[in-house]
Amino acid sequence: MKTEEKSWMKSLFASAEGEKKKLILSVVLSVISVSAGLAPFYCMYRVICLFVAGTANAAAVAGWCLWALLAYAVKIAAFAFSTGVSHNMAYHVLESLRLRLADRFLHAPLGNVENHTIGEIKSMMVDKIENLEPPLAHMIPEGAGHMVLPIVSIIALLCIDWRLALASLVTFPLSMVCMMLTMVISGKNFQTYDKANAYMNSTIVEYIEGIEVIKAFGRAGVSYEKYAKAITDFRTFVVKWLSSTYVTMKLSFALFPSTLIGTLPVALALANHGVITAPLAALAVMLSISMVGSLAKLEVFSENMRQVEFTVKGLQEFLEMPELPEPKARAVVKSTGVELKNVHFSYTGEQRDEVLHGVNLSLPQGSFTALVGPSGGGKSTVAKLIARFWDVSSGSVEIGGVNVKDMPLSQLSEYVSFVTQDNFLFRCSLLENIRLGNPNATDDEVKAAARAAQCEEFIRKLPQGYDTPAGEAGKRLSGGEKQRIAIARMMLKNAPIVILDEATAFTDPENEDKIQQSIAALTQGKTLLVIAHRLSTIKNADNIVVLRDGAIAAEGTQEQLLETCPLYRDMWQAHIGAKSWAVSSAAKEA
Ligand code: ADP
Ligand code: MG
Repeated sequence: MKTEEKSWMKSLFASAEGEKKKLILSVVLSVISVSAGLAPFYCMYRVICLFVAGTANAAAVAGWCLWALLAYAVKIAAFAFSTGVSHNMAYHVLESLRLRLADRFLHAPLGNVENHTIGEIKSMMVDKIENLEPPLAHMIPEGAGHMVLPIVSIIALLCIDWRLALASLVTFPLSMVCMMLTMVISGKNFQTYDKANAYMNSTIVEYIEGIEVIKAFGRAGVSYEKYAKAITDFRTFVVKWLSSTYVTMKLSFALFPSTLIGTLPVALALANHGVITAPLAALAVMLSISMVGSLAKLEVFSENMRQVEFTVKGLQEFLEMPELPEPKARAVVKSTGVELKNVHFSYTGEQRDEVLHGVNLSLPQGSFTALVGPSGGGKSTVAKLIARFWDVSSGSVEIGGVNVKDMPLSQLSEYVSFVTQDNFLFRCSLLENIRLGNPNATDDEVKAAARAAQCEEFIRKLPQGYDTPAGEAGKRLSGGEKQRIAIARMMLKNAPIVILDEATAFTDPENEDKIQQSIAALTQGKTLLVIAHRLSTIKNADNIVVLRDGAIAAEGTQEQLLETCPLYRDMWQAHIGAKSWAVSSAAKEA
C-alpha cells in the first residue's frame, strides 16, 4: 500500500519538481493554521478559570480575548497563504501533466494513440486532470492540518485526564467498521464508473462528429438512442452505486466525528467527583468539539483520496505509453533516396495479421515512383512506415543509408513531407495553417507558397481572405481546396522527400487539373512517392510499383508493365474505360 502510494504520488510530481516545495510549504502553513485555531480554546479556558477563581477583571479578560483574536488572525492568514500556494502548485501540476501527456502522444507509436477514442482521450486530458485540482489544492495541505488537530487535541485531553482521551474515541471503532464496509462495497465500482464515464464521453463525441452522416442516412433515431442509452446507463449506475453505500457511509459520517458523545458525560462525571476542575471540564468539552470539523473533513478526504489514486493510475497508463525509441544526435544522411529492405509489418504485432510480407522498394534520390494496386494492398501502410508513424516488424526503412530508427524524429520530419487524404486544418487562420509547414516563414513566403499551390484564387474569394478561420472555411472548402492548402504547407516545408497518398482521389476534373499543377510545383527535384488511383497522373513515373496483398507483384515503367503485368493492364483498361465513359457522358450532356 505504502509503496503504491509513493509511486502514483511520484508520477504526479515527476515533471514538476519545484512544485513539491510549494506543497510542503502549504502543508506547513496549514498545520500552523489549525494549531493556531486551537489557541482560542485555551484562552477561553483561562477566562473561565478567572471567573471561577473570582479574579476576573476587565483588563485580564480583555487580555486573553486579544490573544484569542490574535491566534484566530494567524489561523486565517496561514490558511489563506496555504491555499494560495497550494492552488498555484495544483495548476502547475495539471499543466505539467497535460504537457507530458501531449508529448507522450507525439512520441508513441500512432497505433497506441489510435487505440483510444477521442472521447476517452479528451476526458483524460481535460476532465480527469481537472478533477485532480481540488484534491491537490485542498486535500493534501488541509488534510495534513486536519490530521494534526485531532492528534494535538487528544494529547491535550490525555494531559487533562487519560479517561477523557479514551472517551473521545468511543465511537471510533464503530465508525471504522462502517467506513471499511463502505470501502468494500464501493471499491470495485470505481473501475465500472470509469468505464461508463469513458463510454459516455466517446458516444457523445461520436454523435456530434458523425452528425452529418447520421442525418444523411436517417440514422438519427438509432444514434440518438445509443447516445441516450449511454447517458441513462451512467445515471442508473451512479445512483445504484451511491445507494449501495448510502447507509454505511452516512453512519460512518455521523459516528466518526461524534467525540462529544464520550467526552461530555465523562468530563461532567470527573468534575462532579472532583477529579478535574470545572474549567478543565469545559476545556475538555471545547477540545472535543474542535475535533469534529477536522474529523469530518478527514473522512471526506479519505474518500476523495481513493478517487485521486484511481485517476492517477489511469493517467499512468498514458504517461507510461511506450515511446518510439529515437537517438538524440542527428544522423549523417548520404542522400535523400529511400530504401525499404525486406519489410514485414503487422499493425497488431501478431504474425497472422501481417499486412506487408517482405517488401523491397528503392526510391533513388530525385526519382518519381508510383505505388498502385488494389485497395487494401498495403500502399498507405508503406507510406506510413516511411514517415515512421509505426515501426516495421522486421526488415528496415532507410533514408540515405540510415535506418529511420537511427535518426531523431525531428530530423526525419525535416526529410519527409506526407500529404494524406484527410487534410487536417487546425482552428486558426488559413495563413497560419499554411505557415505550419515552416513556422519561420514570412507572410510573403506563405502567400507565395499558396500561389504556387493554386490556392490564391479561392482564398481571395473568401470574405476574410487569408485571415479566414479554418474552422469556418473548413466547412466551406472543397476536398480539393483543402488538399491544395495541405500542398502549400508542404511547399513551405520544402522537404526533399515527398509522399502523396491518393492525393487526387475524390476531386472533380477542374480541381484535379489545379492539383496536378500544384503537385508539379511541389515535387520538382524531390524524391517522390505517389499513391494514386488515377493512373493517368502517374504515367510519367520513373518506376511504377504494383502492390497486391502486401507484396510487390510487378514493377517497371508504364510501357513495361502494360506488356508484362496483366493486373496493371486490367487496371489501366478500367481507368481508360472510366475516363472515356466520363468524357462521352459529359459530351452527351453538352
Ligand atoms: P491501401 O492503402 O493499399 O488501400 P492500406 O495500407 O490502407 O491499404 O491497408 C492494408 C491493410 O492493413 C488492410 O487490410 C487494412 O485493413 C489494414 N490496416 C490499415 N490500417 C490499419 C490500422 N490502423 N490498424 C489495423 N489494420 C490496418
Ligand atoms: Mg490507402
